[in-house]
Amino acid sequence: MAGMLQGKTALITGGARGIGRATALLFAQEGARVAVADMSAEGAAETVGMINAAGGQAMSIAVDVTKPDQVAAMVASTVAAFGRLDCAYNNAGIAGYQVGAAGQKTADWSEEAFDRMLSVNLKGVWLCMRSELEQMVKQGGGAIVNTGSIAGLVGLRTSSAYVASKHGVIGLTKTAALEYAENGIRVNAVCPGYIETDMTKDTMARRGTELMAMVPLRRMGTANEIAEMVCWFCSDRSSYVSGAAYNVDGGYMAT
Ligand code: NDP
Repeated sequence: MAGMLQGKTALITGGARGIGRATALLFAQEGARVAVADMSAEGAAETVGMINAAGGQAMSIAVDVTKPDQVAAMVASTVAAFGRLDCAYNNAGIAGYQVGAAGQKTADWSEEAFDRMLSVNLKGVWLCMRSELEQMVKQGGGAIVNTGSIAGLVGLRTSSAYVASKHGVIGLTKTAALEYAENGIRVNAVCPGYIETDMTKDTMARRGTELMAMVPLRRMGTANEIAEMVCWFCSDRSSYVSGAAYNVDGGYMAT
């Protein structure tokens, strides 16, 4: 049986680990040729090695999504290698502890931490979308998925700029979905709850018990459970879905 993404080409940012790596592996398993992009060239190459060892086709790209030239080159080299760009997953992101803001309330964030958060999580997604949309308009269609978060839908204490960045990602997603529907491009966002990756280790160590009590399924999600949703968004099975922000959160948003 053909895979869900058989014959498609895909680009994934933040593909060196966590949700991005799990999605790259699933995409390849479902038949896509995958460009794995990340700030960590070594991690991206490791993901590519895993895909190739399993019989898939992938290439790695070193990129900092905050750098416009690098982002444009990332999309260009994907198209040069694969001929077109059917699916793009803009997933690279950082958490508060990575900008020295762990546990800080809104007024306590430094300007530097706030700017860095918005630069990676929001502007980085926009820069990627800009180059991807340009290519997809040219080729006559495609599917873009952005990683939002439950933090893109509600406020979360001590995550001020992270919450602002993820609300922004949902806004970009909806707006581009309206603008590019006429070009055959669908744009959606996946909104993960608490997922077992390096990103959540710090928070879980500090407040894990308290947070899991707020999740109806009473556990963290796995990176693969997010990858499944992204794969569906990128496949033709979701052909009438655009401008959506779907939660994969163990029921968190229903409380
Ligand atoms: P990880 O920290 O495991 O992976 C994030 C990846 O993004 C890393 O490989 C990292 O590279 C890369 N990255 C960071 N900054 C940049 C940059 N400027 N340019 C290119 N790559 C970069 O996190 P997750 O897999 O958990 O998170 C993936 C996405 O999911 C993020 O957008 C996050 O906000 C979102 N999310 C995660 C949730 C969770 O519970 N884990 C919940 C909701 C949303 P490097 O290895 O060099 O740091």
